[in-house]
Amino acid sequence: MSQSTTFAAFARLCERLRATSSKLEKTALLAEFLTSLSDSDLELASLFVLGKTFPDYDARVLNVSWQTLRAALAELPAAGQDSEGVTLAEIQAAFSEIAERSGPGSRKAIQEKLRALFARTNELEREYLTRIVFGEMRTGVAEGLLLEAIAKASGLPLESVRRANMYLGHPGEVARIALRHGEEGLRKLSLTLFRPVQPMLAELAEDFDKVFTEHGGQTALEFKLDGARVQIHKRGADVRIFSRHLTDVTASLPDLVERARQALAVDTAIVEGEVVAVGENGRPLPFQILMRRFRRVHDIEAVSAEVPIRLYLFDLLYLEGTSRIDLPYQERVTRLAEICPEEWLVERLVTDDPAAAEGFLQRALDQGHEGLMAKRLDSEYTPGSRGKRWFKIKPAETLDLVIVAADWGSGRREGWLSNYHLAARDEPTGKFLHLGKTFKGLTDEQFRWMTQKLQSLKVRESNYTVYVRPEVVVEVAYNEIQRSPQYDSGFALRFARIKRIREDKSPAQVDTVQRVRALYEQQFERKARSPR
Ligand code: AMP
Repeated sequence: MSQSTTFAAFARLCERLRATSSKLEKTALLAEFLTSLSDSDLELASLFVLGKTFPDYDARVLNVSWQTLRAALAELPAAGQDSEGVTLAEIQAAFSEIAERSGPGSRKAIQEKLRALFARTNELEREYLTRIVFGEMRTGVAEGLLLEAIAKASGLPLESVRRANMYLGHPGEVARIALRHGEEGLRKLSLTLFRPVQPMLAELAEDFDKVFTEHGGQTALEFKLDGARVQIHKRGADVRIFSRHLTDVTASLPDLVERARQALAVDTAIVEGEVVAVGENGRPLPFQILMRRFRRVHDIEAVSAEVPIRLYLFDLLYLEGTSRIDLPYQERVTRLAEICPEEWLVERLVTDDPAAAEGFLQRALDQGHEGLMAKRLDSEYTPGSRGKRWFKIKPAETLDLVIVAADWGSGRREGWLSNYHLAARDEPTGKFLHLGKTFKGLTDEQFRWMTQKLQSLKVRESNYTVYVRPEVVVEVAYNEIQRSPQYDSGFALRFARIKRIREDKSPAQVDTVQRVRALYEQQFERKARSPR
């Protein structure tokens, strides 16, 4: 095992990775390289091969622009073939120095540092060094492939490697543990302070019936706040805050750090919650306004005063030196309530009563929140996974659409035209373009009416489908608009169901594909919660 791998060896590996398009071959090349490295080089090579200078959870960034690099290299003689044997460790040391420089005059110091580093590299090294600086390796190695290479190099199951990476957020450390300490080493890993884990996610529920069925008759409802999710890690006075995308946002939220430091009555903890921007009357402000806080790097004080934030906590993942993700939800929130001020807790209601659930939803909406979350009382916290243990309940949106065809039903709906093809109007062409189908929402009587009506509008029929003149307009509720290559509008409605037959509306009045696109974009804005 070599003690200090050269950057030249790493650059040659990158060339070989780039030369093959076979994933298997890339994995094998990378695995072989990893087995030749020392502990610290394992960590560095794993970062560099992904085009990263620091692990994701690390708040340091390189912040070198093209102009800076170009200026730094302007007077440098062209690189030759000979390598001076710069090591991975030396590269990392230079990156750290560059990242730590800031403030007046920093640009010059950074340029000098870059110049000194690049002066010691040959042509190939220069190319890959530049690629790392800008985070674009073009070798076709993403994190998934690296984890496969680690599994191959260590002979351990890929699942164990992935699980370990979820906890450490640093494939290089995973590689080191896998190769040196084997399966046993990986198994010992669990939630660690100051290493954010992927948040647990929720499925969308159409209604409370599903929630109560899936959760065994009783569920914990919480307000679903329209803010940004944060994971707060605390050890003594040391507090770090991570975004939903696991970026360190501590520096942007000094007020929150201070409050967490003072109010979390415990030495070590990881808690999760939602940060909301609050307006004058205490109501939540739009998400975009909150994002001003999260993206902020300069004048943090000024914007903190301008956009006050509130924190609502809803989970506890770690407490007094121990991971708590295996505890049932109910117990986790009980512990949470013991360590933080009551006004920090998200509003919740444990209930088995659908009417109470509806009332609670209404209250959340009246107060300007997005809807509710429903959490299964006995569920563990499963990082990074979306499932039925957590549901999100958001009120449905509606669109007025026209029926352009219908399929004959089977089973109970035999003899009825019961699955309706829905379309929106394309503004420029006036054509009706498909958005999907639904058989949900109508009563038996309405099915009968619809069958007769559509048959009177029939233009042709094939197999099970009757194509009709676009005349019947329906109000369709849905929970999400998705992109879809399957339909000619380019979109599909998730959980579409007919709310009403709009006999008062003509096909010329239905919603347009352009509006659907705009609604889709809006959704996307809301979902793009990354502060990056
Ligand atoms: P969505 O982004 O629509 O998939 O909804 C999930 C997100 O809702 C989470 O990632 C949180 O940011 C947010 N959220 C708001 N309130 C809660 C809550 N009480 N529990 C969990 N997540 C919540």
